[in-house]
Amino acid sequence: MILVSNATLLDPATGDLTEDASVLVEGERIREVSARPIRVGDALTLDAGGRTVMPGLIDCHVHVFLSEVNIRALEAMPLTLMTARGAALMRAMLDRGFTTVRDTGGADWGIREGVAQGYLPGPRLFIAGRPIGQTSGHSDSRRRTDAGAPCHTCNALAFTMGIADGVDEVRRAVREQLRQGADHIKIMVSGGVASPHDPLESLQYTTDEIRAAVEEAAVFGKYVCAHAYAAEAVARAVECGVRVIEHGNLIDAPTAKLMADRGAFLVPTLVAYDGIARHGGRWGMGAESLEKNKVVMASGLRSLELARAAGVRMAFGSDLLGQLQPDQSKEFAIRSQVLSALEIIRSATVVGAELLGQTGELGVVAPGALADLLVVDGNPLRDLTLLQGQGEHLSLIMKAGALYRNRLPVA
Ligand SMILES: [Zn+2]
Repeated sequence: MILVSNATLLDPATGDLTEDASVLVEGERIREVSARPIRVGDALTLDAGGRTVMPGLIDCHVHVFLSEVNIRALEAMPLTLMTARGAALMRAMLDRGFTTVRDTGGADWGIREGVAQGYLPGPRLFIAGRPIGQTSGHSDSRRRTDAGAPCHTCNALAFTMGIADGVDEVRRAVREQLRQGADHIKIMVSGGVASPHDPLESLQYTTDEIRAAVEEAAVFGKYVCAHAYAAEAVARAVECGVRVIEHGNLIDAPTAKLMADRGAFLVPTLVAYDGIARHGGRWGMGAESLEKNKVVMASGLRSLELARAAGVRMAFGSDLLGQLQPDQSKEFAIRSQVLSALEIIRSATVVGAELLGQTGELGVVAPGALADLLVVDGNPLRDLTLLQGQGEHLSLIMKAGALYRNRLPVA
């Protein structure tokens, strides 16, 4: 058992701070949370010295295997190197306090199990397997001279991307991801930044194809999330039963209202555009992509305002490719231009857990929950920069009851 004592407990659901709190962890779960000292004989007792204890962070949009800003460079990468680089990226996420991440395309059940079984340090993964999109769409970054059907085990680009056309192929592709243990299904329903050939405003997949994906996912009790920018693309997806919209930069007020009415989540990823604008060219991103990035970046903050006004639940996302991933926690700073610190912390804890179907398990410090804990050197509600950088201000990082980092003294 591990006891964290003398802490200030931050409840992201309410914003309440409780001083002199204690959290007792047994095995991988929280056993007791108290506003008074807890007395146990045989626990390792750590003195938080009044620092803030809060749930581990959840990033609902990452790509642990997309380790190149220029996606097509993955074509020259073998799966072994892809995995090794992914391991380094995941360790860095855990260093920043992200104990859970949702991979929205690329990561497979093997890497999820590798982390779960303790072979690699990293956040708990929820995976989509291959993101599924149409020929010419956002998951099709092939060279124009490459008309071949990919060997999915020959290189990292083919391993991490899925292409399916027509209702039957979409059904088959979704069923295949489900067979491979996907936690959710990712489809591409509009143009994107990283894919060079598709116009941003293109509506990808017919409504029949989108409905087929939603129907097949539901058979396994899973949900569909969709990459979408334009308001029309978002609205079509939500009307077809898509539960989570990724990015959504170009939404308008009626679309935000539709999302709220249908209970859809939004996962904005504003830091990705900031990173691409500043460093995308240096890492080989092409001119077409850099142009598209300007368009979605310009409307990023506005989409947060529209979503908030409509009451859409927003989770924290970053979507940083490869070399840009050290900026992951800068998403806190960007969102703070229009959202409060509490709203942002909530997005990265309770809302993320809700999106993942893990309410009560993750994103909360409560008895029975998985023991994912951070001890922060100060109050992040007052100073959000404490959650930024590379985790410098985190004195303790615990995932499922295991101490990944501890700088607190033993009491
Ligand atoms: Zn993404």
